[in-house]
Amino acid sequence: MADKYGDSSAAIVVGGGPAGLTAAITLAAGGVPTALVGRPPAEIPARPDNRTTALLAGSVTALETLGVWDLCRAHAAPLRIMRIVDDTGRLWRAPEVKFEASEIDLDAFGHNIENRYLVDALEKRARALPGLEFVNDEVTEVAPGEDTVSVSLKGGRTLRAPLIIGADGRRSTCRDAAGIEVEERAYPQVALTVCLRHSRPHNDTSTEFHTSTGPFTLVPLPGRRASLVWVLDPGDTDGFAALDDDELADEIERASHSILGKIEVELGRGLFPLTSARAKIFAAKRIALVGEAAHVIPPIGAQGLNLGLRDGATIAELAIAAYRDAHDIGGVDVLTRYNTMRRADVGSRTLAIDLLNRTLLSDFLPVQGMRGLGLYLIDRIGPLRRAVMREGVAPAMAQPRLMRGEAL
Ligand SMILES: Cc1cc2nc3c(=O)[nH]c(=O)nc-3n(C[C@H](O)[C@H](O)[C@H](O)COP(=O)(O)OP(=O)(O)OC[C@H]3O[C@@H](n4cnc5c(N)ncnc54)[C@H](O)[C@@H]3O)c2cc1C
Repeated sequence: MADKYGDSSAAIVVGGGPAGLTAAITLAAGGVPTALVGRPPAEIPARPDNRTTALLAGSVTALETLGVWDLCRAHAAPLRIMRIVDDTGRLWRAPEVKFEASEIDLDAFGHNIENRYLVDALEKRARALPGLEFVNDEVTEVAPGEDTVSVSLKGGRTLRAPLIIGADGRRSTCRDAAGIEVEERAYPQVALTVCLRHSRPHNDTSTEFHTSTGPFTLVPLPGRRASLVWVLDPGDTDGFAALDDDELADEIERASHSILGKIEVELGRGLFPLTSARAKIFAAKRIALVGEAAHVIPPIGAQGLNLGLRDGATIAELAIAAYRDAHDIGGVDVLTRYNTMRRADVGSRTLAIDLLNRTLLSDFLPVQGMRGLGLYLIDRIGPLRRAVMREGVAPAMAQPRLMRGEAL
């Protein structure tokens, strides 16, 4: 099959973030000659990204299968227990709910890792794969044609391939070139992110306090460290930005009811306005969108990148099969199936997170009552509880083969 493409690639991945890197590694490991175009590190704004990602069990299995997880393991902490605590202080408060991975026969729901270690591990693996050309450049234009799409680079080169994977983030050039519209929504909330050191052990427990401005979520990191995503009212962010590290640590200790003891904040804080966005379709004109190019969801419930990794695994699964059968890897059949296979998974998770977030923000008593009742039922009814846990970790209907540990 490689002869058909001569020296050129059968697939080009645009974007060297975690979703693009994973898609490129999967394609190349499956035998599809692939080029990955990512901006050279010097052109990426020098800002410490202190974000972390809670990778759910299927994502960890996929990274193990791709030979990436060994490079992550030392930097990742297992999430064995998840607690949800209603800290809204409202009249109708939900009961505390505690989920344990062992209840659904898992060692851990997933692992939390700082993004810098995850991207570094993916890059190392990508650069070691013989079938993957790593192009340090920026895409300036994407032009779909009949049989191939041409991709112009800032450095002057033009690449062509029958399949483009658009992994170029929320302002995606690939999405525009495919003529795909996007539905966007902004929430009246901002997420403050920071990594912490603490005096008490976290016991592999992630704790989500539901507050009236949104969740305040502590997720374990290795040792006595944790990451915090604190969803705030935008009106409060200036006040928080003005706090020095000791004052911020005190605020965090207070908001966390000292469950992790004395807090020290580490260097680097992030502020992320909460938005959600969804492409109307996920593929057209030989271009398939993955990760935030296809969907952005608020950082609640650790779903965003897990969805992005499932996107990459799904398009790679379809493209590898087409490549081996000498079919058109960017043709209508592959793209239509990709779109169909990803819709339900992305749609259901976007909806669930939107609903949970709205119930927290709502002052309407019956809505608060519904959230409380929902959590009460999940807590008390065993089969429902286990079904919710299983679905939270992996979708029953849309788990790609890679997430089940099958090499493609
Ligand atoms: C506070 C916060 C916490 C989060 N926590 C979690 C979590 O716990 N679990 C989870 O699953 N998800 C989480 N997410 C979501 C997750 O961070 C994102 O889904 C993920 O980073 C998106 O990855 P991506 O590769 O799609 O996009 P990006 O990381 O944005 O990568 C896009 C890449 O494309 C490159 N690019 C763009 N344009 C071009 C071009 N023209 N040419 C070449 N390259 C280009 C960019 O430089 C960039 O490297 C969180 C998000 C936030 C904000």
